[in-house]
Amino acid sequence: MKFADLGLSDELLKAVADAGYDEPTPIQAQAIPPVLMMKDIIGIAQTGTGKTASFVLPMIDILAHGRSRARMPRSLILEPTRELAAQVAENFEKYGKNHNLSMALLIGGVSMGDQVKALEKGVDVLIATPGRLMDLFERGRILMSGCELLVIDEADRMLDMGFIPDIEQICSKLPSTRQTMLFSATMPPPIKKLSDQFLNNPKSVEVSRPATANTSIDQSIINVAPKAKRKLLYGILDNEGVDTAIIFCNRKTEVRDLCQQMRKDGFDAGQIHGDMDQSSRLAELERFKSGEINILCASDVAARGLDIKGVSHVVNYDIPWHPDDYVHRIGRTGRAGATGIAITFVTKRDDEHVDSIEKLTGIKIPVRDSKSVKPEKRQSSKTSSPDKPKGDKPKKQHADDKAGEAKKRPSKSSEKSAKPSKEQPKPEAIDEEEDGWNGPVPGFLDAKLNR
Ligand code: AMP
Repeated sequence: MKFADLGLSDELLKAVADAGYDEPTPIQAQAIPPVLMMKDIIGIAQTGTGKTASFVLPMIDILAHGRSRARMPRSLILEPTRELAAQVAENFEKYGKNHNLSMALLIGGVSMGDQVKALEKGVDVLIATPGRLMDLFERGRILMSGCELLVIDEADRMLDMGFIPDIEQICSKLPSTRQTMLFSATMPPPIKKLSDQFLNNPKSVEVSRPATANTSIDQSIINVAPKAKRKLLYGILDNEGVDTAIIFCNRKTEVRDLCQQMRKDGFDAGQIHGDMDQSSRLAELERFKSGEINILCASDVAARGLDIKGVSHVVNYDIPWHPDDYVHRIGRTGRAGATGIAITFVTKRDDEHVDSIEKLTGIKIPVRDSKSVKPEKRQSSKTSSPDKPKGDKPKKQHADDKAGEAKKRPSKSSEKSAKPSKEQPKPEAIDEEEDGWNGPVPGFLDAKLNR
């Protein structure tokens, strides 16, 4: 199957060729033709399968003709998190570069004034998180009656985050003649109900989960005592050809403490979690993508669905509580044809979680002996332990960081080590909140295509 066989315009084929894609991924091959035929679709697929292009590409061609009117977006893409919304906006810019379509991004934490101005001018494509969209709708700043195309992306994630009532409300405001596309990695009953209620005779397209089908991820489990996790991690990072790694922890405080400790110990480590404001998250992500840092300590909410290319290793420092999160986490490696390694640390208390992951993915994850990991190459800092973060004294940190510089480990970058984060930790919470955005807005967030 070639892109040229899918019915896309020459302008899009050129953009796709410029993106370096040789052939459509399975979800693209299955979804693009029915979307172009204006059918509703349910796409069972998750990030990493090329699903974004499977709706963005045909949308661009559908919207190519016609004009937008003030406050009446012609299409709407709903995303559960700001990062995913920003990522879809980037995709729109990439694929829509030969078209003259306007786009606006409505996400929490960004000045509402600029978003309202963009809406006033009229937008062809509105990419939004449900909270901000409802907020502006209730203030009378958006009219949904001109919206003929709706994408509900990551529907199961929306469910996890409690957005389903908002989505139901949004769906009921759109014209009933609209075309609707719903994407979800799984189909729990509430999502099935949502699709029964709001989609019209949808065509289902399904691609297998990357984690189950993707043989390019070498998965393993290592049994380890909680206190020995950090030494084991360092052994892996020092000896196992780690180029770039994402280290997942279950709690935001763990992400913070581990990152802080790793910096002290000379790693080029950064962090991303739900207590950071949006600009810090995007800045940290950019440092990771650019190679300034090669290790990213992450929580699930902040990292879910992010398209970070070329991650050689994913380490589950904590086994995830939800088996779905395992699939998402390990999907950060082995993306788009590259091979990757996913290692999960398992303590004595984690058997139940291993069982549910194996049940979900349908595979038995091989167990590696912890002794197969060579010891770390140098002594890690003895000043503190991530298991006992309260021992860290902020004042000493600067000196420790300097010591860390001297024993810095090789990384992709010759840049200076990361500075300690300035964000103010909030009380522990697992879920993502709509926290503030105080920093500068990256260019693409304000994006207008070819305007
Ligand atoms: P997604 O599942 O939409 O997050 O896409 C995952 C990654 O695959 C992104 O980096 C895309 O740029 C890339 N991608 C999308 N379609 C293709 C394709 N047909 N060939 C190669 N890479 C692709």
